[in-house]
Amino acid sequence: MLLLFIAAIVPLLAVITALAVRRRREGPRLLCPACGGAVERDFNACPACGTRLRLSCPVCGEPVRALWRACPHCGTHLEEDPR
Ligand SMILES: [Zn+2]
Ligand SMILES: [Zn+2]
Repeated sequence: MLLLFIAAIVPLLAVITALAVRRRREGPRLLCPACGGAVERDFNACPACGTRLRLSCPVCGEPVRALWRACPHCGTHLEEDPR
């Protein structure tokens, strides 16, 4: 009985996982932190309000995104609205 239950639940889990992976591959839409407008992953600035979306870490100089709270390269905490 238990095996029957497992045999029924495993394909179901596989389908759910496949759907989740497919959704993740499409990727969540990025939103401008300033105006909430949709921006593409490779945009340097928001086309609607001009907010810069690509910045560089003040410590290590590696490119970081405006949405990131910390630099993934050196771990420095980033200002929310650097000027
Ligand atoms: Zn914007
Ligand atoms: Zn850094």
